[in-house]
Amino acid sequence: MNCFRFAPILILAAGSVLAQAPASSDTSKPTAPVASKSFDAATIDKTADPCTDFYQYACGNWMKDNPIPADKSSWVRSFSVLGERNRYLLWKELDAAATDPKTPLERQYGDYYAACMNAALVEEKGLKPLEPAFKQIDGLKSSRKLGTLVGELVAEGSPAPLFNFGTEQDEKDSSKQIAGIGQAGLSLPDRDYYLVDSKRFHEIRGQYVEHVTKMFRLAGDTQDQAAREAASVMEIETALAKASMSRTDLRDPEKTYHIYTVKDFQKLTPDFDYSVYFKDVKVRHFDTLDVATPEFFKALNDLIAKEPIDAWKSYFSWHTLHGLASDLPKAFFDENFAFFGKTLAGQKEPTPRWKQCTSMTDRALGEAVGQDWVKQNFPPAAKASMDQLVAALEKSLGDDIKTLPWMSDATKKAAEEKLAMIRNKIGYPEKWRDYTALKVSRDDLIGNIDRSATFERDWNLDHLGKPVDEKEWGMTPPTVNAYYDPSFNDINFPAGILQPPFFDFSVDPAVNFGGIGVVIGHEMTHGFDDEGSKYDGKGNLREWQTAEDRKAFTERTDCVADEYSGFEAAAAHDDVPAQKLNGKLTLGENTADNGGLRIAYMALLDTLAAQGKSIDDKIDGYSEAQRYFLGFAQVWCENMTEQEARQEVLTNPHSPSRWRVNGTVQNFDAFGKAFGCTKGQPMFPAKSCRVW
Ligand SMILES: [Zn+2]
Repeated sequence: MNCFRFAPILILAAGSVLAQAPASSDTSKPTAPVASKSFDAATIDKTADPCTDFYQYACGNWMKDNPIPADKSSWVRSFSVLGERNRYLLWKELDAAATDPKTPLERQYGDYYAACMNAALVEEKGLKPLEPAFKQIDGLKSSRKLGTLVGELVAEGSPAPLFNFGTEQDEKDSSKQIAGIGQAGLSLPDRDYYLVDSKRFHEIRGQYVEHVTKMFRLAGDTQDQAAREAASVMEIETALAKASMSRTDLRDPEKTYHIYTVKDFQKLTPDFDYSVYFKDVKVRHFDTLDVATPEFFKALNDLIAKEPIDAWKSYFSWHTLHGLASDLPKAFFDENFAFFGKTLAGQKEPTPRWKQCTSMTDRALGEAVGQDWVKQNFPPAAKASMDQLVAALEKSLGDDIKTLPWMSDATKKAAEEKLAMIRNKIGYPEKWRDYTALKVSRDDLIGNIDRSATFERDWNLDHLGKPVDEKEWGMTPPTVNAYYDPSFNDINFPAGILQPPFFDFSVDPAVNFGGIGVVIGHEMTHGFDDEGSKYDGKGNLREWQTAEDRKAFTERTDCVADEYSGFEAAAAHDDVPAQKLNGKLTLGENTADNGGLRIAYMALLDTLAAQGKSIDDKIDGYSEAQRYFLGFAQVWCENMTEQEARQEVLTNPHSPSRWRVNGTVQNFDAFGKAFGCTKGQPMFPAKSCRVW
């Protein structure tokens, strides 16, 4: 799934991003946020030269006037402000359902929300809800029984470390749904945090061990015990990090596709009994599975042989605590936030409880709460208008493919076929998921979370061996995001992003094409980036370019990778060195950004021509072309803490906002022309990169 931007509510696995977790005691009152205008000349810093640093020009005043709120580690003019608005509207719905439910569905999500909001009860229960898991862990008699333990924990919905297991589409036959398994088991944001030899990471590792120690102390262990346990956790996680594939390699579908028989897979980790685990999670019988990271499972066996049983007990106890820490009493929550929120992300204050309980309910029951949300926030006219925009973008990408100078006719034909097969999903699912089987209790927060995890797992595993349902969605309706799925070959735009400042009936087409138009173009281009281009129109991993065209394509994507590797994500200061982007990790997103900006511009030209207008026409002193680029840049105006910027450069496949703007405009000559730049200026360079 290639997301336009990571939406906080989606990457938030229970307890894994603690900066996002609910505070146990806060009394902040929900307020409606003020929406960002679709086009706002006031954000422009007229002291900056658009030809030298367009991002500073388009966003300078906004950045100056909009510091990061205390409960955030970053603040974006579009995504964050609209995200807050959507969540506020969802909160109103949940709050009403929690007080006075009118339907069984309202009672279900109202109770889920109410249980999360009951901080006093969370305090009263203490660690009691975790006792069954701790008991299972204590009962571990031998390292060779880890399969049984992990199976039991996962069966009960407890946080499941070590690996991810579920159903996926077969990369080489997308009509089939098969079992898949891959690496997991770390607590820090990336394997680099365990492995990189630098002063900064040494410090972070020291602080992490201190944090783990404090959490065990809070759970009642002595200082000596807690310190020993923390050392074991660090040792096991470091070994798992060493065995893990890098994020950059994980982007390459050829590197993560290995079909094994269950028997041969078992041989990778002879000391871990997968058959017991599969039985515990109640998956139906299967003979083969896709093992994304075989080396990881081999290394796991060495680790099982090497680590004493007490070290494993510490590791699983830690993940039980850590995975749910944000839903435990205030002392645990605060310690969690102090490390993962403050130290790692630079966030000053925790996210208010009402916000997090709203997001948590959206994650657990998204297609239940979303039904009412879209009724109120997504008029049918919006869908019709989006259909038109998508059609305009499809035509431009087709025109673009036809005129590419470096591609053979045979490959052009194959590319056009793939483009014609992309399916569009707009707003919300045609058919909503059924949550009847999910039991929700108004006085059992942890129980609800566990049952919800089990419900999701059962739902996912039920897909095994069944035909693919193309109507399913990977995002909930209020989400401010969009995605392309290479196996489905579809582009998806939740109702949450089809709002101002992305999408607005009241503004001129230039601004809409710079906003939602570029988003649509971005998702379409994902079908043709370094990763998406490896799949055909049916969503199968299969080469459709000629060998010569693939070579020419790779030369062009290499140009983009090298270019972005030169951009800086965080500046040097004191004894901390500067941090440059990873051009290979961000290559797919950068390719999509560049393609999106170009084809949305082409679609704008077509639209203006059809209306008898010109790209040079002016509105309020700015030409249509300038309004297009300004509308685009204003989506990305952002402030971010340095800690968050340094974390994201390792974990986020998207470039920082500054480079999503400056990197793309400097590769597109129409920008330099629109702002009267001189060839050779930074935003209008003599040489630039272009894939699509
Ligand atoms: Zn993307």
